[in-house]
Amino acid sequence: MSSPTQPSVTLSGSVTMPQLGLGVWQIPPHDVAQVVTDAVEAGYRAVDTASEYQNEAGVGDALADHRDIFVTTKLWNADQGFDETLRAFDASASRLRRDVIDLYLIHWPSPHRERYVASWKALARLKQEGRVRAIGVSNFTPAHLERIMVEVGETPAINQIELHPRFQRWDARAYHERHGIVTQSWSPLGQGTLMNDPILRRIADRHGKTVAQVIIAWHLHAGLVVIPKSVRSDRLIENIGVFDFRLDDLEVAQIVGLDAVDGRLGPDPDTATW
Ligand code: NAD
Repeated sequence: MSSPTQPSVTLSGSVTMPQLGLGVWQIPPHDVAQVVTDAVEAGYRAVDTASEYQNEAGVGDALADHRDIFVTTKLWNADQGFDETLRAFDASASRLRRDVIDLYLIHWPSPHRERYVASWKALARLKQEGRVRAIGVSNFTPAHLERIMVEVGETPAINQIELHPRFQRWDARAYHERHGIVTQSWSPLGQGTLMNDPILRRIADRHGKTVAQVIIAWHLHAGLVVIPKSVRSDRLIENIGVFDFRLDDLEVAQIVGLDAVDGRLGPDPDTATW
């Protein structure tokens, strides 16, 4: 099953990326190939993995006959540094069984290592050499972004950050927009913690949709790239069944009202110590 109406975004003015993809964090290596196969069957056109997820090989197996599926992977913190990054990229590309990766990200700035600028130089090199179609970062604050843009002269195509209705990241999004950086939402469903929210439930009931579908539609409406995760084939189908309804302005405003000062679920990139 595939949907011709799936929206996409443009990275760095030239690379088309599906706006909805499958995230595979915490999907065990022995399960991931089946989940990705189910997702492709359900109509997903993009998969988000990382070296740290230890499931790139399974993703590569599942996508061996699906070269058109957009693949993102990420450089792990311990592999930061110019030469180290080039080596880590080769290892990821080989596990994914691709010569060219669609999108390669620095997973975390890991500022205490003082290596993210050198790593970004390596990503710029990979792009120049045609080994990646687009390069970006994840969990970078505006200060980290500023530094790599000034010191390397290359703007990331995308920044993948924690973003969901309880943690909406308006400042980061405004900064990205000013610099032509696409914002991608990780843990877009709030890791499943938002399913009983009464406001989301009411909106979902009004459309005959589920809360997960309403949240995903909200990300799409906001122009965010969204990568919900599930291992269940019924939920994979549910989470992509979002292109046949639209939230109205009042519903969007109600969801905007769910933003919370204590909404962060994951670590703060400035203080994370790994
Ligand atoms: P998520 O917000 O996508 O939530 C996933 C969980 O929500 C599932 O495990 C399940 O419990 C629940 N769920 C999913 N579909 C549902 C449905 N239809 N109905 C009810 N419950 C449902 O969480 P996530 O996995 O943390 O984030 C998604 C992806 O983002 C990851 O798989 C990964 O690719 C990426 N990510 C990146 C970073 C980073 O540092 N760059 C960090 C975390 C996640």
